[in-house]
Amino acid sequence: MKVPNKLLSFLRKEKEFLIATHVNPEPDALGSAIAFSIALEKLGKKVILYDKDPVPEFYRFLPGHEQFISSLRASDINYLPIILLDCNTLERAGIEDISFRRSAVIDHHETEKDFGDIKWIESTAPATGLMIFYLIKKLGLKITKEMAINLYSAIAIDTGTFRYNNTTAEVLRVGAELIEAGANPSYISSNLYEAWSKGRFLLFIMALNTLEIKEDIAMIVVTKKMYQKTGTGADDTENFPGFPRMMKDIKVSAFFRELGDNYWKVSLRSRGDINVAHVATLFNGGGHKNASGYKIKASLKSAKKALIKAIKNQKF
Ligand code: 5GP
Ligand code: MN
Repeated sequence: MKVPNKLLSFLRKEKEFLIATHVNPEPDALGSAIAFSIALEKLGKKVILYDKDPVPEFYRFLPGHEQFISSLRASDINYLPIILLDCNTLERAGIEDISFRRSAVIDHHETEKDFGDIKWIESTAPATGLMIFYLIKKLGLKITKEMAINLYSAIAIDTGTFRYNNTTAEVLRVGAELIEAGANPSYISSNLYEAWSKGRFLLFIMALNTLEIKEDIAMIVVTKKMYQKTGTGADDTENFPGFPRMMKDIKVSAFFRELGDNYWKVSLRSRGDINVAHVATLFNGGGHKNASGYKIKASLKSAKKALIKAIKNQKF
């Protein structure tokens, strides 16, 4: 993985940056952004760390998460250079209306868009966190404990904690180096996977009870009513999309989350060569080969039908 020289000189030259990552942030977005901002601050730079959505409660174990702000005043930005992390459009970062001087994109999504004066996109990189690991080293900095916890969490979440097919010897080597630098795998795993509230668990049961299987596609649903009944919110559905893929004959797992009246967020997870990034693109979404998402304005029934049709029409 080679860090572009253009990116390095941009980072060395500018004094202040706005780092923005995608809406509904998860540990790859959060951990990469926090570790990167710590690194830039060590180089004497000023950094504004932005996510349109607040850091979800259960990711607040990431050291440095307090630096994130979720509202921006025009006077704060003042034509700063911006860096998009773990996403590649202003829309995905929820900042379509900001003014900026220059822009850089650091991302690993295969659904790349034509945005950014400087682009470093590695669609085969398992996580943005891995790219940031190399970038920090290339900047001549040591990986601190705080950076290590953030980067390990980033890589862990995007590799299913070293289980998915993006888990390579290189990923494990970097993981080992991060452990040596202070990341504790069991502490991080228990925060990522074993820190559910009871309400979240009850919401999960309700979601599982909506299971419908058609054409090897498993679909589960969470409605706003379910949040009310369990005292939960959208953040609590993190991880839900992957569960139906536990069934060995399922090719695609689809999770429908109600956003509003006849308005749904759909998260897709697939197995092997089935490319759900292509499927999500048909609905103006995006993502990776085995994990993608999009939003759709339709009744639940039509949204399910449209998805099944789109998957069937794909040539895998
Ligand atoms: P999730 O479904 O868990 O939100 O996201 C799975 C993957 O798909 C992530 O890599 C995420 O960035 C991407 N993704 C999810 N929703 C969207 C979307 O609406 N647009 C785009 N471009 N990517 C998405
Ligand atoms: Mn990622």
